[in-house]
Amino acid sequence: MATHFKHFINGRWETGVTLGVSENPSDLSDIVGEFARADAAQTESAIRAAVDAREAWGSSTPQRRFEVLDFVGSELLARKEELGTLLAREEGKTLPEAIGEAARAGMIFKFFAGEALRIPGERLASVRPGVDVEVTREPLGVVALITPWNFPLAIPAWKIAPALAYGNTVVFKPAELVPGCGWALAEILSRAGLPAGAFNLVLGSGRRVGQTLVESPLVDAISFTGSVTVGEAILAAASARRAKVQLEMGGKNPLVVLADAPLERAAEHAVQGAFYSTGQRCTASSRLIVEAPVFDRFAELMRQRTRALVVGHALERGTQIGPVVSREQLEQDLSYVAIGRHEGAEWLAGGEALERPTRGHYISPALFVAQPKQRIAREEVFGPLACLIRADDYEHALALANDTPFGLCAGICTDSLAKATHFKRHAQAGMVMVNLPTAGVDPHVPFGGRKASSHGPREQGRHAAEFYTTVKTAYTATG
Ligand code: NAP
Ligand code: MG
Repeated sequence: MATHFKHFINGRWETGVTLGVSENPSDLSDIVGEFARADAAQTESAIRAAVDAREAWGSSTPQRRFEVLDFVGSELLARKEELGTLLAREEGKTLPEAIGEAARAGMIFKFFAGEALRIPGERLASVRPGVDVEVTREPLGVVALITPWNFPLAIPAWKIAPALAYGNTVVFKPAELVPGCGWALAEILSRAGLPAGAFNLVLGSGRRVGQTLVESPLVDAISFTGSVTVGEAILAAASARRAKVQLEMGGKNPLVVLADAPLERAAEHAVQGAFYSTGQRCTASSRLIVEAPVFDRFAELMRQRTRALVVGHALERGTQIGPVVSREQLEQDLSYVAIGRHEGAEWLAGGEALERPTRGHYISPALFVAQPKQRIAREEVFGPLACLIRADDYEHALALANDTPFGLCAGICTDSLAKATHFKRHAQAGMVMVNLPTAGVDPHVPFGGRKASSHGPREQGRHAAEFYTTVKTAYTATG
């Protein structure tokens, strides 16, 4: 019998109004589980549970919050192989990547366990005699967390952990493609010692569950990661009722390769950044901007390395690139390959649907030489498709890197300290990488972008407090 992933509402497991099925994208004959799907009324009951738990959790001690989050972090770390296997099976990233993600989720809970003990505040002298001023941070209340499928443990972790650390209560809606991972996290949280209603999991579609959360006047804040289209709709709806909103959205991240870079190493970073996790990372290196003197040599290195990548079942040893998450996403990837060919981009490798011993959503990583204005060089594909773009020199490369509506991450490969330093200062992105792939970030420092990639305060690290708390200034007469 398939596992049944249920909602967790007000401290109890609940079945849904309808049932959905979670598939393994590496093997469509393998059903990961059935999952509950909520309607608006069931979602509203979770919101009310979170409202009712506000007082109990909002007034909990730092020590209690530390213990809850530390418990979750320890369990995620101790069970990283098992949870990584579930993740690889449900989402399709390779097992080593998935285990790494489970561990990272654990580290994030551990980090915010510590932060719960360090909630910042200030005490200042007043400009008036006989008065003290205190600046403290308080919880927002009920926060709705809406997450995508591509990091189904880590992204929920980097929202749930700070939300709880700073005393908020939570309604969490994972993407419908990954209910098993959302349920696994909730299952650990259900045993962590939280009061009933402080953490709720509601499974179901964005249109039903997501929209109900966004429109509810009882939800004080929304943290969303996903596509630009959905993010913009959430921002419009939530700001109309003055809810606090944080959005992390797409990317079209440049990796600049200068003529003085060690080319083999740069190609390794480019392949890693562009194609690992099947290119389904918002920080993927999808634009490889290469200085003219080394362009042909680098393109040839990339062509060879891209063709050599092993595409296969996510749980199979030796697989480097797992399947695409869903049929819909595979069709989108293939359609961009067709767009690239139609626009006259020069095809170098891949972009074909593949058959494997098990039926799944397989595609060979695609590499093109593109012109900067072509669609495949401007729009986020969110799959294993990368474009090589020729730059005359460093200044041209920097201008191309910044010529995008997005601004999540930007990377450069160079041996020149002067150019690396200049790039760090002038890249219009929230994150910059020097001699590293654009994807792959630490769990204890801010994450987020500029322009169309993000809205609101950064996630992760100590900066998470800016979103998950509200500031109070209190004046007290001392005499
Ligand atoms: P998506 O389609 O925007 O969905 C994200 C979440 O929003 C899902 O849980 C989805 O629910 C929900 N949703 C959909 N419509 C909604 C609505 N009308 N109201 C409220 N919620 C709604 O994104 P995705 O396809 O899952 O993920 C891919 C995108 O995420 C890419 O664009 C990628 O760049 C971005 N991403 C960004 C970051 C970052 O930090 N910058 C990280 C990872 C991914 P259902 O899908 O379950 O219906
Ligand atoms: Mg989607």
